[in-house]
Amino acid sequence: MGQVRRRSYTVAVALGGIAFSVALATRHQVWGQAASDTDQSTAAMRMSPAQLEKKYEQYTQLLVTPDYLPRKVSDSDAREAKQFLSSVPVVALSPYVEGHAHPNGPTMKTPTLFIENAFQLMERVNAVKVVMFPSPYAPEDKIPYSDEDLARAVKGHEDKFAFLGGGTSLNPMMLEAVRVNNTGPDTQRKVKELAEKLLSEGAVGFSELTPEHLAVASTQSYMHMPPDNPLMLVLADVAAQHGVPMLIHMEALMRSGPMPDDLNRPPNPSQITENITGLERLLSHNPRATIVWAHAGLDNTGDRTPDLMRRLLKAHPNLYMDVKIVPARLGKNSPFDADGKIKPDWLRLFQDFPDRFMLGSDQGYGGDPKEMGSAQGLRTSVLMVNQLPKNLALKIGNENAQHVYHFSSGSKQEP
Ligand SMILES: [Zn+2]
Repeated sequence: MGQVRRRSYTVAVALGGIAFSVALATRHQVWGQAASDTDQSTAAMRMSPAQLEKKYEQYTQLLVTPDYLPRKVSDSDAREAKQFLSSVPVVALSPYVEGHAHPNGPTMKTPTLFIENAFQLMERVNAVKVVMFPSPYAPEDKIPYSDEDLARAVKGHEDKFAFLGGGTSLNPMMLEAVRVNNTGPDTQRKVKELAEKLLSEGAVGFSELTPEHLAVASTQSYMHMPPDNPLMLVLADVAAQHGVPMLIHMEALMRSGPMPDDLNRPPNPSQITENITGLERLLSHNPRATIVWAHAGLDNTGDRTPDLMRRLLKAHPNLYMDVKIVPARLGKNSPFDADGKIKPDWLRLFQDFPDRFMLGSDQGYGGDPKEMGSAQGLRTSVLMVNQLPKNLALKIGNENAQHVYHFSSGSKQEP
């Protein structure tokens, strides 16, 4: 990370049981804008944590729409908001492992810069390791980079990045094969070969596979395949054989029928198919295959309740989950209440299954860390880990991901 001189002022405040830590860092060489950052930092230091959270939301909403598209705002408004968001990161009280992250597509064109920027962002929030994998693509998507591009970019940094493969290759291939009903022995062999090729290129698991990916924003794709289709079962066998996990993105659907009203718009279909039975078939098909069910906490259908997750975790010891929270869109069954505090039923779930949850912000990495939005997703992982009891902060915030994703211990230390 070079010769970065830095002064950090860390103010840890306990408020209503919530511990926030706000580091106000002036990083002349890294962040530039020294004078204005200092002004912003000084102003921010006078705010309470609750005021800071409010300001964060206000500025975020000023700059992006609920579809995460940039808004047109006046230059001076945008400058003020960007300066605030980049000068006041929220920092984890203990080093944590980010269990679900993607490269920002365009940054893969400059792999060295991608790595440098990702390191800066990690340092800024106290993330020590990141599980990095391509966003999941549909067969018709224009795919901006390949699994191999990402594998090459993170090579040599295995102590910091665990790479999972398949989002740009296995996933679109499997979706297409299921769509045209071509899941016989030939395709199964291709899945196995492709999966093993990814492992030989450095993958420590397969991700992101999309049995049910609803388009929440109009810019997203709809993706669907039964979680227990023959190709997923083959992949589970490969995962078990090599002792690596596979991660799925699957909205919980407890019953078949019409699409819920708030999601009934293109590209989503008008009918949905129950998928928990299929998920359980996948889980019991090969109990030695570790399956990570992503995005606990970001429930768009209302069916992914703590009760459902409790039942499944109890029945299937090979099931793990990562937790994603979007504060501006708490949605259904959120782990946080309106004050940003973890709800009691979620805390009980974490306490009863302390080894089975990880953080999974879904943050995009590699863009200019000075830019607005560069750390917005991470903030919620940090707020969660900072208010977990100590034993859970250690497991959910760090050890579980290290265990599931087999990070190499590495020897490179931060300067
Ligand atoms: Zn993701």
